[in-house]
Amino acid sequence: MKKTTKHGTYGCPAQDCSSGDARRQKDLTDTQKTSLPTEIQRKIENIVCKRCNYCGCVYIRNYDFQPQCSILGFLDGGVSGAGWKPLHQLGIQ
Ligand SMILES: [Zn+2]
Repeated sequence: MKKTTKHGTYGCPAQDCSSGDARRQKDLTDTQKTSLPTEIQRKIENIVCKRCNYCGCVYIRNYDFQPQCSILGFLDGGVSGAGWKPLHQLGIQ
């Protein structure tokens, strides 16, 4: 878990995201949520998750302790490809 990102406090937390500024960070929609694995859906049931619409990074941002983020994985990312890619599959710690 990285505490700071090159895209600033409200930008994408993925270190290799090349264009994840704050304007590209959207709330994860219900439709997107349903394409996540069940265990992830359960984990984020009552949490607003964000998704970078550039690289597809899905993460939890704790606004009380910003810029702390927990990256869950990547969904339909421009780089990672279609579908859900958990972090371990991409070799990201
Ligand atoms: Zn990104």
